[in-house]
Amino acid sequence: MQVLVIGGGASGMMAAIHAAAGGCRVTLLEQNKKLGKKLYATGNGKCNLTNLQMHPGDYRGNDPAFAVEALRNFSVSDTLSTFSEMGLMTKERYGYVYPHSEQAKSVVSILTLELRRLGVRVLLSCKALCAGQENGVFYVDAELTEEGRRQRLFANCLVLASGGLAGQNLGTGEVGYEICRLFGHRLFPTVPALVQLQTAERFLRPAAGCRADADVTLQVGEKNYRENGEIIVTDYGISGIPILQLSRYVAMAKKEEVCVLHLNFFPGKEKEDIRALVEIQLQKSFALERTAEEAFCGMLPDKLLYALLKEAGISGSEAAGCIHEQQRKRLASLFGNLRLTVTKTLDFTKAQATAGGVDVSEIHPHTMESRRIPGLYITGELLDIDGTCGGYNLQWAWTSGALAGKALAKAVKP
Ligand SMILES: Cc1cc2nc3c(=O)[nH]c(=O)nc-3n(C[C@H](O)[C@H](O)[C@H](O)COP(=O)(O)OP(=O)(O)OC[C@H]3O[C@@H](n4cnc5c(N)ncnc54)[C@H](O)[C@@H]3O)c2cc1C
Repeated sequence: MQVLVIGGGASGMMAAIHAAAGGCRVTLLEQNKKLGKKLYATGNGKCNLTNLQMHPGDYRGNDPAFAVEALRNFSVSDTLSTFSEMGLMTKERYGYVYPHSEQAKSVVSILTLELRRLGVRVLLSCKALCAGQENGVFYVDAELTEEGRRQRLFANCLVLASGGLAGQNLGTGEVGYEICRLFGHRLFPTVPALVQLQTAERFLRPAAGCRADADVTLQVGEKNYRENGEIIVTDYGISGIPILQLSRYVAMAKKEEVCVLHLNFFPGKEKEDIRALVEIQLQKSFALERTAEEAFCGMLPDKLLYALLKEAGISGSEAAGCIHEQQRKRLASLFGNLRLTVTKTLDFTKAQATAGGVDVSEIHPHTMESRRIPGLYITGELLDIDGTCGGYNLQWAWTSGALAGKALAKAVKP
């Protein structure tokens, strides 16, 4: 059986490997000059390829249960065995899994070696322009970009693995979504996910670069979303894992909905506890005749503390004993409930994932086969599933790719 795979990224390579291992004759089309270009950039070049801790909340979309169901059929341990069988040694840190070399390149190399061993025909610099089906046969019109010519390729089955829109210069594009539409699939609007947020308040700008642990609540209209972890103040707004994980809800907010972040820099502590902390620090500093800056030294990174003191109307050099009741209250409130108005997310070039995409109610969760068009398979980020930070998006790519490849293999040898 002839199989065409559009996209030589994570899910496309995984699909091609499983299909070829099962006896399919596979041709893989990749628009870039090399396979897995995005993989090189993952995990800051280390490739956080999966996570040993899987919870249902790690996946988002209109039907995250679809991902959970798929993961039951190709799990994290299936992924690790597959990579181990291919010869990749991995290491784990707090559940996060990386290649032992901590070089993303190793993951691409192992996948490429396996594609070669299985005889997968790889066409690089080959961009799919459109696809269709005639008399039960799939075709893909592709442009061989280096040679400047076009070619029509045919197959019994087609895997769409062309990825989402996230990542700068890594080989993203709309073609995959357009092909899904042409085949009659319903798509939810695509927006950036796992991306930094721009905020309106300017008083935090001098604290750019500061990192602090925080409980973070994002308020979108009437709804609240919560995360916890290290935030990073930036010169345009705010970043850090909890912020990235909340960003999809900002991107999906309706125009009329106001998005506000509430940061508590003393995780788990209530308003009264933080008030008490401020008072204790002040009590200690009266006898020592400290300044305001000195009184709160060590509670937060210096630049962040100075920005919050200033916002509370407190001069850092004034005597701690001179800080009046209103200022103390204001400072405690900035420590425990700093409100930041979100103006927008940064765009797809800075995002690590795409939220939205192909409606998974039209896809079989055990095979990734289209319920509309038998023989058509859709994998990875094209689908309306996005994961949180920590290896969950790549796990989704491995799972969906492997399930498609295995289903194709089964179709050859029922
Ligand atoms: C900077 C960055 C860091 C990330 N880090 C992590 C991480 O550490 N852990 C994690 O789990 N996830 C991470 N992700 C997310 C993860 O990389 C993706 O979710 C995953 O690669 C999606 O797999 P995919 O197969 O759907 O698409 P991709 O891996 O993007 O592959 C799609 C492939 O299709 C090709 N293509 C597109 N259109 C065409 C066409 N018309 N013709 C031919 N080829 C085409 C593309 O060039 C690309 O090679 C990161 C993303 C980014 C941007």
